[in-house]
Amino acid sequence: MAKGLIEFTPKGMYVPLADVYIDPSAAVEKAFLTHAHSDHARPGSSVYFAHYQSAPILKHRLGNPQISSYQYGESLMVNGVKFSFHPSGHVPGSAQIRVEYNGEIWVAGGDYKVENDGLSIPFEPVKCHTFITESTFGLPIYQWQKQELVFNQINEWWKANQEKKMASVIFAYSLGKAQRILQNVNHEIGEVYVHGSIANMNEACEAAGFKLKPWKILNSGIGKESTKTALIIAPPSAAGTTWLNKLEPYSDAVASGWMAVRGSRRRLSADKGFVLSDHADWDGLNYAVEASGAKKIIVSHGFTAAYARWLNEQGYEAIEEGLSFSEE
Ligand SMILES: [Zn+2]
Repeated sequence: MAKGLIEFTPKGMYVPLADVYIDPSAAVEKAFLTHAHSDHARPGSSVYFAHYQSAPILKHRLGNPQISSYQYGESLMVNGVKFSFHPSGHVPGSAQIRVEYNGEIWVAGGDYKVENDGLSIPFEPVKCHTFITESTFGLPIYQWQKQELVFNQINEWWKANQEKKMASVIFAYSLGKAQRILQNVNHEIGEVYVHGSIANMNEACEAAGFKLKPWKILNSGIGKESTKTALIIAPPSAAGTTWLNKLEPYSDAVASGWMAVRGSRRRLSADKGFVLSDHADWDGLNYAVEASGAKKIIVSHGFTAAYARWLNEQGYEAIEEGLSFSEE
């Protein structure tokens, strides 16, 4: 158990001096949120503190709760403890949370990636004494290609399907990955349609100030003539459901970091897998840890044991904590 500015409790990360939680797993009085993914942003807390671009998304996801929102770098004091949000490059509105008291600085990295995805504000290292890092892909086997190469592959697949008069359905998380695909595919190829749950997220992102490329909601009024040349972005939960029937014939694909693991695509029974993650790969994690300047590292979720062991071998004082965040 790490005792310090941020402690690890059954409800998640806790700042005892300020009596606030970071990404709590249960309802609390004051919840600071790194981002709006459902495994980090749980309903029921009295007040949420988040980056302002997360606010419209949180309103949509959590049923219009009380939200206090901030710019990146803007600070607020709670019981003499200074808090601020800094870009984590994970999804729209995502942040690392910096906590300072009496000259001691801790940073909770939340989920992050270091590559600029063309959508989220890019990751910025924040100097601190203790850095709390994720390790979702914290093994040396995880090495991402530059995203333009991945989007070239996605564009080629889309074009090949068009030639066969097949619709192209790509499964991606509704917040972050879906908009990242929308922003980076080649819109000269054809039109992009989205599932209703992604349309809701797109609207929340637009309300937060993101200028998204053209998209249309796929509703019952859209005929096959329109979809057979289109790219359709759908959430993973739509895979294997009757929602897809109206799109026949189609080819489907999954965009996820887990596509780097042999057999993942087959298990999801999709035609194609694209390795595209909103988390740092092995080199990205090591870059972020080094750039934080911290000597003490707490590995909060992912391959915690393996990554903490490796950091210790590199001379860091690293320990693991087992927070249960699951979304990719
Ligand atoms: Zn996340």
